[in-house]
Amino acid sequence: MKELSVVVPIYNERDDLTRLIFAITGALDPHVEEYEIVLVNDGSTDGSGAQLDKLAESDAKLRVLHFERNCGQTAAIAAGLKVAEGRYVALMDGDLQTFPEDIVKLLPYMAEYDFANGTRVDRRDTLVKKVSSKVGNGVRNKITGDQIQDTGCPMKLFKREVAQSFNLYEGFHRFLPTLARMNGFSVIEVPVGHRERTAGKSKYGVLNRAFVGLMDAIVIGWLRKRTIRYQIRGD
Ligand code: UDP
Ligand code: MG
Repeated sequence: MKELSVVVPIYNERDDLTRLIFAITGALDPHVEEYEIVLVNDGSTDGSGAQLDKLAESDAKLRVLHFERNCGQTAAIAAGLKVAEGRYVALMDGDLQTFPEDIVKLLPYMAEYDFANGTRVDRRDTLVKKVSSKVGNGVRNKITGDQIQDTGCPMKLFKREVAQSFNLYEGFHRFLPTLARMNGFSVIEVPVGHRERTAGKSKYGVLNRAFVGLMDAIVIGWLRKRTIRYQIRGD
């Protein structure tokens, strides 16, 4: 079995892709013996698809899935998790705002925890985005009843069993640590690096994310409250 799968959702990130692959392989080659990079092209219209196929020709570690059309980040992540073969699964975005080196930093936590969620300590986004994210995390925690500092941090690492336990709906990629806990897994939060987006554009606006995120948080809070937990006597 491969030790690690790195799953990356990609929607119109053409100018970042070569850099992305070099950054991931550069960070992982010295530390991880056998890994794969699963790149899910979520219906890109900027030539990302052709670029991904070209990159995959010269690197057998790359696996590329193409959606027929844009289906959203959660769908792309779900498709990647479904085909991932690694014992551990790392998630990161295609815009390189997080550092693949941090996957190596998160790996040792798998000895004690099932899920390591990054926390962007020195976040390099616009002020509006930083403030909305801070408020968003506070509101989300209040509504879901869970406590996660940076639930939307793109850098995450978890065990294969965790990946297989998810039953994802659109928007749920922002609640993965909470969903993992609901499924009985242990979660640790670990500081990770962050940098500006240098190519492409963010796919979300503040308002649509806030509103949709709020509705999603209500659903997650409801699911969390209704989670069934039982133990059969003698087991
Ligand atoms: N993404 C995707 N499908 C979408 C929107 C985004 O696969 O419909 C990908 C995108 O290419 C990136 C990641 O999801 O790799 C996060 O998107 P983005 O960086 O725009 O979000 P932000 O960091 O601004 O929250
Ligand atoms: Mg981003």
